[in-house]
Amino acid sequence: MSYDIVIRGGEVVDPSQGFRQICDVAVSNGKITAVENGIDCSQARTVIDARGQLVTPGLIDLHVHVYPHSPLGLDPDSLCAAGGVTTMLDTGTAGSYNFDAFRRDVIDRARTQVFGLVNLSCVGLACGILGELLDRRYADPDGVVATIERNRDVAVGVKIRATANIIGDGEQGWANLNDAIKAARDSNTWLMVHIGDSPMPIPELVEALSPGDCITHCFRASSRPILDDKGKVFEAVRAAAERGVIFDVGHGFGSFNWDVAQAALDDGFEPTTISTDLHTMNINGPVYDMPTTMSKFLSLGLPLERVVEMSTTRPAQILNKADDLGTLKVGTVADIAVLERLTGDFVLSDSNQQTRPASEILVAATTVRRGEIVPGGGGRRMVQLAD
Ligand SMILES: [Zn+2]
Repeated sequence: MSYDIVIRGGEVVDPSQGFRQICDVAVSNGKITAVENGIDCSQARTVIDARGQLVTPGLIDLHVHVYPHSPLGLDPDSLCAAGGVTTMLDTGTAGSYNFDAFRRDVIDRARTQVFGLVNLSCVGLACGILGELLDRRYADPDGVVATIERNRDVAVGVKIRATANIIGDGEQGWANLNDAIKAARDSNTWLMVHIGDSPMPIPELVEALSPGDCITHCFRASSRPILDDKGKVFEAVRAAAERGVIFDVGHGFGSFNWDVAQAALDDGFEPTTISTDLHTMNINGPVYDMPTTMSKFLSLGLPLERVVEMSTTRPAQILNKADDLGTLKVGTVADIAVLERLTGDFVLSDSNQQTRPASEILVAATTVRRGEIVPGGGGRRMVQLAD
Protein backbone atom coordinates (compact mmCIF):
# COMPACT_ATOMS: atom_id res chain seq x y z
CA MET A 1 0.00 0.00 0.00
CA SER A 2 1.39 3.38 -1.01
CA TYR A 3 -0.90 5.51 1.18
CA ASP A 4 -2.37 5.21 4.65
CA ILE A 5 -5.30 7.47 3.76
CA VAL A 6 -6.62 9.08 0.60
CA ILE A 7 -9.23 11.80 1.03
CA ARG A 8 -11.05 11.68 -2.23
CA GLY A 9 -12.71 14.41 -4.27
CA GLY A 10 -13.24 17.11 -1.65
CA GLU A 11 -12.98 20.85 -2.24
CA VAL A 12 -9.54 21.53 -0.83
CA VAL A 13 -9.16 25.00 0.72
CA ASP A 14 -5.65 25.81 1.88
CA PRO A 15 -5.12 29.56 2.39
CA SER A 16 -1.44 28.99 3.24
CA GLN A 17 -0.91 28.24 -0.45
CA GLY A 18 -3.78 30.28 -1.89
CA PHE A 19 -5.18 26.94 -3.02
CA ARG A 20 -8.84 26.11 -3.64
CA GLN A 21 -9.87 23.29 -5.95
CA ILE A 22 -11.53 19.91 -6.01
CA CYS A 23 -8.87 17.21 -5.73
CA ASP A 24 -7.54 14.33 -3.63
CA VAL A 25 -5.23 14.42 -0.60
CA ALA A 26 -2.94 11.50 0.26
CA VAL A 27 -1.38 10.76 3.65
CA SER A 28 1.45 8.39 4.57
CA ASN A 29 3.46 7.96 7.77
CA GLY A 30 1.74 10.90 9.42
CA LYS A 31 2.60 13.34 6.62
CA ILE A 32 0.77 14.81 3.66
CA THR A 33 2.27 13.13 0.60
CA ALA A 34 0.20 14.45 -2.29
CA VAL A 35 -2.48 17.04 -3.05
CA GLU A 36 -3.57 16.48 -6.65
CA ASN A 37 -6.14 15.00 -8.96
CA GLY A 38 -6.48 11.32 -9.72
CA ILE A 39 -4.59 9.76 -6.79
CA ASP A 40 -4.95 5.98 -7.06
CA CYS A 41 -7.39 5.01 -4.30
CA SER A 42 -6.59 1.31 -4.77
CA GLN A 43 -3.20 2.12 -3.25
CA ALA A 44 -4.79 3.39 -0.02
CA ARG A 45 -5.42 1.49 3.20
CA THR A 46 -8.36 3.84 3.95
CA VAL A 47 -10.35 6.02 1.57
CA ILE A 48 -12.40 8.93 2.89
CA ASP A 49 -15.07 9.97 0.42
CA ALA A 50 -15.10 13.77 0.71
CA ARG A 51 -17.10 14.53 -2.41
CA GLY A 52 -19.30 17.54 -1.68
CA GLN A 53 -17.30 18.36 1.42
CA LEU A 54 -14.53 20.79 2.31
CA VAL A 55 -11.00 19.64 3.09
CA THR A 56 -8.95 22.15 5.08
CA PRO A 57 -5.83 22.09 7.23
CA GLY A 58 -6.65 20.83 10.73
CA LEU A 59 -8.35 23.72 12.50
CA ILE A 60 -6.42 25.63 15.16
CA ASP A 61 -8.47 27.01 18.04
CA LEU A 62 -6.55 29.85 19.67
CA HIS A 63 -8.77 30.01 22.77
CA VAL A 64 -9.90 26.95 24.74
CA HIS A 65 -9.88 25.67 28.34
CA VAL A 66 -8.68 22.07 28.59
CA TYR A 67 -7.17 21.78 32.07
CA PRO A 68 -9.74 19.72 33.97
CA HIS A 69 -8.45 20.71 37.42
CA SER A 70 -10.46 23.87 36.83
CA PRO A 71 -14.28 23.74 36.71
CA LEU A 72 -13.95 25.15 33.17
CA GLY A 73 -11.69 22.45 31.74
CA LEU A 74 -12.78 20.17 28.87
CA ASP A 75 -11.10 17.08 27.40
CA PRO A 76 -9.00 18.18 24.39
CA ASP A 77 -9.29 14.94 22.44
CA SER A 78 -13.08 14.94 22.31
CA LEU A 79 -12.96 18.56 21.09
CA CYS A 80 -10.54 17.52 18.38
CA ALA A 81 -12.83 15.04 16.69
CA ALA A 82 -16.02 16.98 17.35
CA GLY A 83 -14.71 20.18 15.88
CA GLY A 84 -12.01 19.30 13.38
CA VAL A 85 -9.53 21.01 15.71
CA THR A 86 -6.11 19.33 15.68
CA THR A 87 -4.25 22.08 17.56
CA MET A 88 -5.55 24.16 20.43
CA LEU A 89 -4.25 26.84 22.74
CA ASP A 90 -5.32 26.67 26.37
CA THR A 91 -5.53 30.28 27.45
CA GLY A 92 -4.36 30.51 31.02
CA THR A 93 -6.43 27.84 32.75
CA ALA A 94 -3.24 27.11 34.70
CA GLY A 95 -0.74 29.49 36.30
CA SER A 96 2.79 29.10 37.62
CA TYR A 97 1.67 26.80 40.49
CA ASN A 98 -0.21 24.27 38.36
CA PHE A 99 1.12 24.51 34.80
CA ASP A 100 3.53 21.60 35.31
CA ALA A 101 0.61 19.42 36.42
CA PHE A 102 -1.37 20.60 33.39
CA ARG A 103 1.52 19.57 31.20
CA ARG A 104 1.94 16.16 32.86
CA ASP A 105 -1.77 15.26 32.99
CA VAL A 106 -3.06 16.78 29.76
CA ILE A 107 -0.57 18.24 27.30
CA ASP A 108 1.81 15.26 27.31
CA ARG A 109 -1.03 12.72 27.13
CA ALA A 110 -3.38 14.26 24.62
CA ARG A 111 -3.46 13.10 21.05
CA THR A 112 -4.42 16.63 20.13
CA GLN A 113 -1.61 19.16 19.98
CA VAL A 114 -2.11 21.41 23.00
CA PHE A 115 -0.16 24.58 23.71
CA GLY A 116 -0.73 26.78 26.73
CA LEU A 117 -0.60 30.35 27.94
CA VAL A 118 0.43 30.77 31.59
CA ASN A 119 -1.96 32.84 33.68
CA LEU A 120 -0.45 35.77 35.59
CA SER A 121 -2.37 34.44 38.60
CA CYS A 122 -0.32 31.64 40.14
CA VAL A 123 -3.43 29.45 40.53
CA GLY A 124 -4.80 30.06 37.04
CA LEU A 125 -8.55 29.53 36.85
CA ALA A 126 -8.74 26.90 39.61
CA CYS A 127 -11.36 29.14 41.24
CA GLY A 128 -11.61 31.85 38.62
CA ILE A 129 -15.15 32.70 39.61
CA LEU A 130 -13.74 34.43 42.71
CA GLY A 131 -11.47 36.68 40.61
CA GLU A 132 -7.99 35.23 40.28
CA LEU A 133 -6.16 38.57 40.68
CA LEU A 134 -8.36 40.49 43.09
CA ASP A 135 -5.70 39.66 45.67
CA ARG A 136 -2.44 41.07 44.30
CA ARG A 137 -0.43 38.38 46.10
CA TYR A 138 -1.57 35.91 43.41
CA ALA A 139 0.17 37.90 40.64
CA ASP A 140 3.37 36.00 39.86
CA PRO A 141 5.23 37.50 36.88
CA ASP A 142 8.55 35.88 37.82
CA GLY A 143 6.85 32.51 38.23
CA VAL A 144 5.28 32.91 34.79
CA VAL A 145 8.71 33.53 33.26
CA ALA A 146 10.23 30.52 35.06
CA THR A 147 7.30 28.31 34.02
CA ILE A 148 7.71 29.31 30.38
CA GLU A 149 11.47 28.71 30.59
CA ARG A 150 10.83 25.17 31.93
CA ASN A 151 8.21 24.43 29.24
CA ARG A 152 9.43 26.34 26.18
CA ASP A 153 8.06 23.75 23.76
CA VAL A 154 4.46 24.07 24.95
CA ALA A 155 4.12 27.25 27.04
CA VAL A 156 3.98 29.95 24.41
CA GLY A 157 2.80 33.07 26.23
CA VAL A 158 0.98 34.83 29.05
CA LYS A 159 -2.71 35.37 29.84
CA ILE A 160 -4.64 37.90 31.88
CA ARG A 161 -8.38 38.45 32.15
CA ALA A 162 -8.68 42.23 32.24
CA THR A 163 -12.11 42.59 33.83
CA ALA A 164 -12.42 44.88 36.85
CA ASN A 165 -14.07 42.26 39.06
CA ILE A 166 -11.30 39.77 38.17
CA ILE A 167 -8.11 41.86 38.39
CA GLY A 168 -9.34 44.88 40.36
CA ASP A 169 -10.22 48.41 39.27
CA GLY A 170 -8.10 51.56 38.89
CA GLU A 171 -4.48 51.32 40.00
CA GLN A 172 -4.74 47.65 40.93
CA GLY A 173 -6.03 46.80 37.46
CA TRP A 174 -3.12 48.60 35.86
CA ALA A 175 -0.60 47.00 38.24
CA ASN A 176 -1.83 43.54 37.24
CA LEU A 177 -1.86 44.40 33.53
CA ASN A 178 1.66 45.82 33.74
CA ASP A 179 2.86 42.67 35.53
CA ALA A 180 1.41 40.56 32.73
CA ILE A 181 3.08 42.73 30.07
CA LYS A 182 6.39 42.47 31.94
CA ALA A 183 6.11 38.67 32.15
CA ALA A 184 5.53 38.50 28.39
CA ARG A 185 8.50 40.77 27.64
CA ASP A 186 10.81 39.01 30.15
CA SER A 187 9.92 35.58 28.74
CA ASN A 188 10.26 36.83 25.16
CA THR A 189 6.70 35.68 24.38
CA TRP A 190 3.37 37.45 23.95
CA LEU A 191 0.39 38.42 26.05
CA MET A 192 -3.27 37.60 25.50
CA VAL A 193 -5.60 40.05 27.22
CA HIS A 194 -9.25 39.13 27.73
CA ILE A 195 -11.42 42.25 27.59
CA GLY A 196 -14.78 42.70 29.27
CA ASP A 197 -15.76 45.37 31.75
CA SER A 198 -12.09 46.26 31.79
CA PRO A 199 -10.49 48.50 34.43
CA MET A 200 -9.14 50.81 31.73
CA PRO A 201 -10.56 52.25 28.49
CA ILE A 202 -9.80 50.03 25.48
CA PRO A 203 -7.75 52.72 23.63
CA GLU A 204 -5.42 53.02 26.64
CA LEU A 205 -5.24 49.25 27.01
CA VAL A 206 -4.29 48.56 23.37
CA GLU A 207 -1.72 51.36 23.41
CA ALA A 208 0.08 49.48 26.21
CA LEU A 209 0.39 46.36 24.01
CA SER A 210 3.15 45.44 21.55
CA PRO A 211 2.96 43.82 18.11
CA GLY A 212 2.24 40.11 18.62
CA ASP A 213 0.19 40.70 21.77
CA CYS A 214 -3.47 39.77 21.51
CA ILE A 215 -6.88 41.03 22.54
CA THR A 216 -9.41 38.22 22.89
CA HIS A 217 -13.22 38.62 23.08
CA CYS A 218 -12.84 41.43 20.54
CA PHE A 219 -16.56 41.41 19.62
CA ARG A 220 -17.86 41.41 23.17
CA ALA A 221 -20.68 43.76 24.18
CA SER A 222 -19.64 45.32 27.48
CA SER A 223 -19.05 48.67 29.13
CA ARG A 224 -15.68 48.67 27.31
CA PRO A 225 -16.20 47.47 23.72
CA ILE A 226 -13.78 48.09 20.83
CA LEU A 227 -16.38 50.57 19.49
CA ASP A 228 -16.78 54.24 20.38
CA ASP A 229 -20.08 55.96 21.25
CA LYS A 230 -20.96 56.25 17.58
CA GLY A 231 -20.50 52.52 17.00
CA LYS A 232 -17.22 52.98 15.09
CA VAL A 233 -14.03 51.08 15.84
CA PHE A 234 -11.73 53.19 18.01
CA GLU A 235 -8.85 54.70 16.01
CA ALA A 236 -6.47 53.30 18.63
CA VAL A 237 -7.82 49.80 18.01
CA ARG A 238 -7.38 50.14 14.26
CA ALA A 239 -3.87 51.52 14.77
CA ALA A 240 -3.02 48.64 17.14
CA ALA A 241 -4.20 46.09 14.54
CA GLU A 242 -2.10 47.85 11.90
CA ARG A 243 1.03 47.60 14.01
CA GLY A 244 0.46 43.87 14.62
CA VAL A 245 -1.69 43.51 17.72
CA ILE A 246 -3.91 40.45 17.21
CA PHE A 247 -7.67 40.70 17.60
CA ASP A 248 -9.12 37.29 18.40
CA VAL A 249 -12.81 36.35 18.58
CA GLY A 250 -12.85 34.11 21.70
CA HIS A 251 -16.64 33.59 21.41
CA GLY A 252 -17.33 32.21 24.90
CA PHE A 253 -20.61 32.37 26.79
CA GLY A 254 -20.43 36.13 27.19
CA SER A 255 -18.08 37.42 24.55
CA PHE A 256 -19.56 37.36 21.06
CA ASN A 257 -22.25 39.83 20.08
CA TRP A 258 -23.76 40.01 16.59
CA ASP A 259 -24.21 43.78 16.70
CA VAL A 260 -20.63 44.49 17.77
CA ALA A 261 -19.25 42.09 15.15
CA GLN A 262 -21.49 43.53 12.44
CA ALA A 263 -20.60 47.12 13.34
CA ALA A 264 -16.88 46.32 13.28
CA LEU A 265 -17.11 44.50 9.94
CA ASP A 266 -19.23 47.32 8.48
CA ASP A 267 -16.48 49.68 9.62
CA GLY A 268 -13.89 47.61 7.74
CA PHE A 269 -12.43 45.92 10.81
CA GLU A 270 -11.95 42.14 10.67
CA PRO A 271 -10.71 39.87 13.45
CA THR A 272 -7.26 38.37 13.01
CA THR A 273 -8.35 34.94 14.25
CA ILE A 274 -11.56 33.03 14.95
CA SER A 275 -11.61 31.02 18.19
CA THR A 276 -14.20 29.52 20.50
CA ASP A 277 -13.22 30.03 24.18
CA LEU A 278 -14.80 26.60 24.66
CA HIS A 279 -15.23 25.50 28.29
CA THR A 280 -17.68 23.45 30.32
CA MET A 281 -20.25 26.22 30.50
CA ASN A 282 -20.64 26.98 26.78
CA ILE A 283 -20.01 23.73 24.92
CA ASN A 284 -23.72 22.90 24.89
CA GLY A 285 -24.46 26.35 23.49
CA PRO A 286 -24.06 28.97 22.33
CA VAL A 287 -20.54 27.98 21.23
CA TYR A 288 -20.70 24.20 20.51
CA ASP A 289 -17.52 23.99 18.47
CA MET A 290 -15.13 25.66 16.03
CA PRO A 291 -17.12 24.98 12.82
CA THR A 292 -20.22 26.60 14.39
CA THR A 293 -18.16 29.67 15.26
CA MET A 294 -16.75 29.76 11.73
CA SER A 295 -20.31 29.46 10.37
CA LYS A 296 -21.26 32.63 12.23
CA PHE A 297 -18.62 34.55 10.29
CA LEU A 298 -19.80 33.04 7.01
CA SER A 299 -23.28 34.27 7.91
CA LEU A 300 -21.81 37.74 8.54
CA GLY A 301 -20.59 37.71 4.95
CA LEU A 302 -16.88 36.87 5.27
CA PRO A 303 -15.63 34.75 2.35
CA LEU A 304 -14.95 31.08 3.03
CA GLU A 305 -11.21 31.36 2.28
CA ARG A 306 -10.88 34.17 4.82
CA VAL A 307 -12.80 32.25 7.48
CA VAL A 308 -10.56 29.20 6.93
CA GLU A 309 -7.45 31.40 7.01
CA MET A 310 -8.56 32.91 10.34
CA SER A 311 -8.97 29.37 11.71
CA THR A 312 -5.82 27.72 10.32
CA THR A 313 -3.02 29.72 8.71
CA ARG A 314 -3.18 32.77 10.96
CA PRO A 315 -3.28 30.97 14.32
CA ALA A 316 -0.40 28.79 13.06
CA GLN A 317 1.61 31.96 12.42
CA ILE A 318 0.79 33.29 15.89
CA LEU A 319 1.98 30.00 17.41
CA ASN A 320 5.15 30.27 15.31
CA LYS A 321 4.33 26.92 13.69
CA ALA A 322 3.34 27.97 10.19
CA ASP A 323 6.00 25.72 8.65
CA ASP A 324 4.15 22.62 9.81
CA LEU A 325 0.65 23.52 11.04
CA GLY A 326 -2.33 25.23 9.43
CA THR A 327 -1.25 24.08 5.97
CA LEU A 328 -1.71 21.18 3.57
CA LYS A 329 1.73 21.53 1.98
CA VAL A 330 3.28 18.22 0.97
CA GLY A 331 5.69 17.03 3.67
CA THR A 332 3.91 18.73 6.59
CA VAL A 333 2.16 16.90 9.42
CA ALA A 334 -1.12 15.31 8.27
CA ASP A 335 -3.55 17.32 10.41
CA ILE A 336 -6.68 17.65 8.28
CA ALA A 337 -10.32 18.67 8.79
CA VAL A 338 -13.03 17.36 6.49
CA LEU A 339 -16.00 19.67 6.92
CA GLU A 340 -19.51 19.14 5.71
CA ARG A 341 -21.40 22.15 4.36
CA LEU A 342 -25.01 21.77 5.41
CA THR A 343 -27.56 23.96 3.70
CA GLY A 344 -31.02 24.66 5.08
CA ASP A 345 -32.68 26.94 7.60
CA PHE A 346 -30.51 27.27 10.68
CA VAL A 347 -30.55 29.56 13.68
CA LEU A 348 -27.28 30.75 15.17
CA SER A 349 -27.10 32.43 18.57
CA ASP A 350 -24.58 34.90 19.96
CA SER A 351 -23.59 35.13 23.63
CA ASN A 352 -26.46 37.48 24.41
CA GLN A 353 -29.28 35.16 23.29
CA GLN A 354 -29.73 37.07 20.06
CA THR A 355 -30.34 34.78 17.09
CA ARG A 356 -29.76 35.14 13.39
CA PRO A 357 -30.90 32.91 10.54
CA ALA A 358 -28.25 31.15 8.48
CA SER A 359 -28.59 29.18 5.27
CA GLU A 360 -25.32 27.29 5.61
CA ILE A 361 -23.37 25.77 8.48
CA LEU A 362 -20.14 23.82 8.70
CA VAL A 363 -19.91 20.53 10.57
CA ALA A 364 -16.79 18.47 11.32
CA ALA A 365 -17.26 15.24 9.39
CA THR A 366 -13.85 13.57 9.72
CA THR A 367 -10.72 14.71 11.51
CA VAL A 368 -7.22 13.42 10.77
CA ARG A 369 -4.55 14.06 13.39
CA ARG A 370 -0.94 13.10 12.61
CA GLY A 371 -2.13 10.86 9.80
CA GLU A 372 -4.78 8.95 11.78
CA ILE A 373 -8.54 9.32 11.77
CA VAL A 374 -9.78 10.54 15.17
CA PRO A 375 -12.98 8.73 16.15
CA GLY A 376 -16.14 10.77 16.77
CA GLY A 377 -17.45 13.65 14.68
CA GLY A 378 -19.44 16.78 15.48
CA GLY A 379 -22.44 16.16 13.26
CA ARG A 380 -24.88 15.17 15.94
CA ARG A 381 -24.33 18.30 18.01
CA MET A 382 -24.85 20.46 14.97
CA VAL A 383 -28.08 18.77 14.01
CA GLN A 384 -29.57 20.12 17.25
CA LEU A 385 -29.04 23.58 15.84
CA ALA A 386 -31.17 22.83 12.81
CA ASP A 387 -34.39 23.11 14.81
ZN1 LIG B 1 -11.30 31.94 28.02
